[in-house]
Amino acid sequence: MSRLFYQTRLARPELDRAEGIHMWDVTGKRYIDGSSGAMVSNIGHSNPRVLAAMHKQMERATFGYRLHFQTEASEALAERAAALAPEGLGRVFFVSGGSEAVESAMKLARQYALSRGEAQRYKVIARTPSYHGATLGALSVTGYAPMTAPFDPMMRPMPKVPAPRAYLDGLDAEDPATGLHYAAMLEARILEEGPETVLAFIVEPVGGASTGALVPPAEYMREIRKICDTYGVLLIHDEVMSGGGRTGRFFGAEHWDVAPDLICLSKGFGGGYVPLGAVIARDDMVETVLDHGGFIHGHTYAGNPLACAAGLAVLEEIDTQDLTGNAARMGDVLASRLRDLKQKYPVIGDVRGKGLLLAFELMRDRASKAPLPATLNAHSRLVEIAYENGLILYSRRTRGGLSGDHFLVCPPMIVNAEQVEEIVDLLDKSLARFVAELPADALG
Ligand code: PMP
Repeated sequence: MSRLFYQTRLARPELDRAEGIHMWDVTGKRYIDGSSGAMVSNIGHSNPRVLAAMHKQMERATFGYRLHFQTEASEALAERAAALAPEGLGRVFFVSGGSEAVESAMKLARQYALSRGEAQRYKVIARTPSYHGATLGALSVTGYAPMTAPFDPMMRPMPKVPAPRAYLDGLDAEDPATGLHYAAMLEARILEEGPETVLAFIVEPVGGASTGALVPPAEYMREIRKICDTYGVLLIHDEVMSGGGRTGRFFGAEHWDVAPDLICLSKGFGGGYVPLGAVIARDDMVETVLDHGGFIHGHTYAGNPLACAAGLAVLEEIDTQDLTGNAARMGDVLASRLRDLKQKYPVIGDVRGKGLLLAFELMRDRASKAPLPATLNAHSRLVEIAYENGLILYSRRTRGGLSGDHFLVCPPMIVNAEQVEEIVDLLDKSLARFVAELPADALG
């Protein structure tokens, strides 16, 4: 028995090696990394440019404590990340993961309010469902009861508004009235809480694990920006999953041409080569905080040169290979092939996403949008079947919401058309077996 433990005792095959979109276990079995791990390995595995950059940096220095040294790698990565961000967001704070990025963004927002004499602002409004990380601060803004409930007494309750799940509410996501309808819920909540107490609103521009690639309805992103401005509420875009090019733009929010005050990045930013994340903040916010005694926050591994050298090479690879463009193109192909599967399998209730941040959701009945019974454990069963067939998927069951079992199909952004077909064939084969196993009364 392994001494290791994670969420469960679940035993997995031992990984031997990985290259491109493929992974091999020690028995020699090959898998397609259909979810880029947890939407992390965006540029694929064993990229020569990144490995070479890491080697080069390792030979110079792997660690220099951020309060003792600046490094060429961290300066260069900050410069490059800021150049990608919207105008006015030019300051970068490095961390080692998504939860740390969210914690850091919330603390920077709080200190900015304090610096401006607005000590009463502390509430960070978030959405349900949502996922912003596993640490207690990030969890307090996470709208996903299965992960938050045991820790409720240890957290300060933060207000939640419904995520705009237009498809479940039977609304037309293309109709601007739909976006305005959900955005109005944010405004109502700000007024109910007392605008002078609200510090920030945190949102995943394209939803991640908890919503299964939820794309906001028309006008939603622009309207929430306006509402935040009206009440002096800071807007945090959690681009931990949607950032880094996966949606077909470097930041997911670029699809709606809106700029937040703070951006959280991780996952594809380090590309699975090293733990890495960042907060990109408005210059004037950072200046204000630094003028008022400094940012009271930091993590030991922040901005270490090895991580930054790897991150820089990841961004160079995305740029020189136009992987963001490829994500847009291959995303269109994969989305249309997933819609074909929806035609073939009535159990697929919805296909959604942007670029290569794509998901499909299983339902008992498309008309009522009822989920499959939880006892079927569809989210884990289909993943198991796909795994046996050599395809890795990422799934969730959003219990407590209306949503059912959803599966993220998010191969690395280097995927080509032939490989997309292979993924779809494996998925088809896996769905056929999954459906054949369903009890006779499972579908409505
Ligand atoms: N925010 C979002 C949108 C995420 O998808 C995740 C991870 N799934 C996190 C934050 C937390 O990141 P990490 O697991 O690296 O702490």
